[in-house]
Amino acid sequence: MFEIMRIPAFKDNYIWLLRKGASAVVVDPGDAAPVLEVLDREKLSLDSILITHHHKDHQGGVAQLLENSSARVFGPALESITGRTQALRGGERISLSSLGAMLQVIAVPGHTLGHLAYYGHGCLFCGDTLFAGGCGRVFEGSYLQMHDSLMHLAGLPDETLIYCAHEYTQANLRFASAVEPGNSALSSRNNEVAALRAKGLPTVPSTLGIEKATNPFLRCHVPEIRRAAQARGTLGGDEAAVFAAIREWKNDF
Ligand SMILES: [Zn+2]
Repeated sequence: MFEIMRIPAFKDNYIWLLRKGASAVVVDPGDAAPVLEVLDREKLSLDSILITHHHKDHQGGVAQLLENSSARVFGPALESITGRTQALRGGERISLSSLGAMLQVIAVPGHTLGHLAYYGHGCLFCGDTLFAGGCGRVFEGSYLQMHDSLMHLAGLPDETLIYCAHEYTQANLRFASAVEPGNSALSSRNNEVAALRAKGLPTVPSTLGIEKATNPFLRCHVPEIRRAAQARGTLGGDEAAVFAAIREWKNDF
């Protein structure tokens, strides 16, 4: 099994580095400098780069990383990805043989239209689709697509570790508490996350089980959340309509 390192970047991004022996794979290197520093310090050689979607804070470091390596670049076929060598649409399995790893590629459109998640060995690298305590903004797809994508991820095992690309958890949970104030698992999580952040510690990865218990965007079937959405003027009562209402609410929260 590979090890996973967290490389903070920019204000609140996380770049994930998977390593085994002297080989490394990075996920969403928005900035090359902190990745190069780790590769150099740990004497690792970059085997592959996995990209979830085209936003600059997820692929902005690829060009510079390729100046120093001949890494393969896996990324969405539907998006413009710097240096991409392996175009993916979802449904593929990719072999990262230097890590002894095989990952499933899952199409999760919504935040962007080609957005991919990578899943395997109990880990999910989901970019800006599912966050700890929240989900990404719907920039390119429809609310229905984003809800379907999140429901697809929610079908993975509860113990799956959620490696999202940003440290947004505390703000996400403030919103979650406004949507579902009666959720006691959520209040406990709020306290735990506040304690971690007060010490400057990360809150990622979380687990899918924790997300299913506390993340409002995976809980559109819950009566309290449905009522909160209806109080904001949702017409239809189906889960995708509830999702759309709370996602729009979060945009202005
Ligand atoms: Zn993004």
